[in-house]
Amino acid sequence: MKKPRITPQDFASLYEQYNANLAFVDCGRKCAPLNKGNPICCDTENAIPVVDKAEFELLKSRTDLWFRYKPNDAASRKIVKELTSSACAIECKGAAFCERDNRTIACRSFPFYPYLDKAGNFIGLTYYWDFEDRCWIISNLQVVEQKFVQQMIAAFERIFKLDPDEYQTMKDHSANMRRVFSRQGKIIPVLHRDGRYYKIKPGSNGALTPCTPAEYKKFGPYKSEAAYIRAVKAAGGTLPPPPPQGYLAP
Ligand code: SF4
Ligand code: SF4
Repeated sequence: MKKPRITPQDFASLYEQYNANLAFVDCGRKCAPLNKGNPICCDTENAIPVVDKAEFELLKSRTDLWFRYKPNDAASRKIVKELTSSACAIECKGAAFCERDNRTIACRSFPFYPYLDKAGNFIGLTYYWDFEDRCWIISNLQVVEQKFVQQMIAAFERIFKLDPDEYQTMKDHSANMRRVFSRQGKIIPVLHRDGRYYKIKPGSNGALTPCTPAEYKKFGPYKSEAAYIRAVKAAGGTLPPPPPQGYLAP
């Protein structure tokens, strides 16, 4: 008998439960000036949303925001070709048309994925490291809201129960990150489910060491204010205006 799969209704329920703001900073204002005014994670030139087909079915029943992604070069054709039969790549109409309630699980989670240790325990969150040089959040993990961390963990606990393949994918991805970061001599930051910050030092066999976000590295244009101003200028962008009074800057 065919195993029951995650359904569109499961995703509808996940959307209800998982809707916290990643941070109380509009991070899109930080990365968009480096990307022709578009937030990096809302632009398929940089990040292609991959969803379960059941999730796409739900979205199609709720909105016309989303459509199938059409690959336009060798790299994107390879990404689409390598997807499993239960997944598909999709694209939205763009940031100007964003519908908060119809964002995918991938949109809600970016740049994070669930971090699993060697034994397969779901420890907390870490990030998709391919985006270190582009996503402002990765260089500013201190702004990530605890409510978001807890909601994402709860959502993925449900997803893992409903979709064992997703659990295996994240377990493999975590193992790959440990290998890559050990080789590169970099620490892996972990936003732990206990609400604290940890780091995994290279060659530590995955051991977690408590730390503060100040110990996490900053990358590329986000290394310093001067580097950011230089990068925005080079990209022909406009610097975001300073936050209004009473706004909590990181
Ligand atoms: S999550 Fe990262 S890439 Fe997406 S809008 Fe925020 S800073 Fe930009
Ligand atoms: S739905 Fe919104 S958050 Fe998701 S990619 Fe589109 S613009 Fe970005």
